[in-house]
Amino acid sequence: MSQPSLADQQPAVRLRPRYSANGKHRDHSGASTLLYAKNLVKSYRKGPIEVPVLKGVDMEVRQGEFLSIVGQSGSGKSTLLHLLGTLDAPDQGEIYFSDRRIDNLPSRGRDVLRNQHIGMIFQFYHLLPELTTLENVLAPRMIAHGVVRYWLERKKHLEDAKEVLELVGLSHRLDHRPRELSGGEMQRAAIARALVAHPQLLLADEPTGNLDQKIGREILALLQRLNESRNLTVVMVTHDQGLARETDRIIRLAEGRVEQA
Ligand code: ADP
Ligand code: MG
Repeated sequence: MSQPSLADQQPAVRLRPRYSANGKHRDHSGASTLLYAKNLVKSYRKGPIEVPVLKGVDMEVRQGEFLSIVGQSGSGKSTLLHLLGTLDAPDQGEIYFSDRRIDNLPSRGRDVLRNQHIGMIFQFYHLLPELTTLENVLAPRMIAHGVVRYWLERKKHLEDAKEVLELVGLSHRLDHRPRELSGGEMQRAAIARALVAHPQLLLADEPTGNLDQKIGREILALLQRLNESRNLTVVMVTHDQGLARETDRIIRLAEGRVEQA
């Protein structure tokens, strides 16, 4: 199969996704490419030993798609997601986001990208324990804008944060600290924080991995709703095959490469 080229896509009008026979999975093959990775290679060094993790990963994510990445523990799912989110750099290969190469951006460019265009959520939420739910959601705004500018526009930031917290169903927990929230609520707060800047892409690393099945399904339903209503493209790492099957497409990491699942 030939590599999907970045030059030969971008239809002038975004095509509506087509639904599969059971009406559940949408086909985005007509949509434009949002994220594209080519031949990603990544190893970790443990003393003198080099441990190869990714050995040439090629993948593509279409605009509006909800993609799952599955694979055994240790297969490199988190490593891949970190590369896609520019938290780490590949040893070899290239990553493009909206046609722009992002794997070799300077740190300031990576910060802007993560602050404005790519949201991330994790298994253990990574909320700041001393801040309330509302403050956790506002923190990226404060960092992005600087204290003075943030303060001048604080009313707008507050409105935005409250709006996104309402969207995830947390309006009644604005003043709670993380330790006063349930796991599902903490993940909702993390989702709100990831979305306050209206990113096009959400990268989710085992977002339900620390939640029981019922709450995990609620988090998936929330991500699906955001995917559909806000046209948010979602890439979710999960070891839960049942959850993965609910998404538009699944890819599997094995032996350091991607297999279409
Ligand atoms: P997954 O998320 O699929 O469970 P990871 O991407 O976390 O897998 O890890 C892939 C492999 O890389 C594992 O063998 C892990 O031990 C190793 N690894 C991950 N991060 C590091 C690191 N910072 N230093 C050394 N080895 C690492
Ligand atoms: Mg992992």
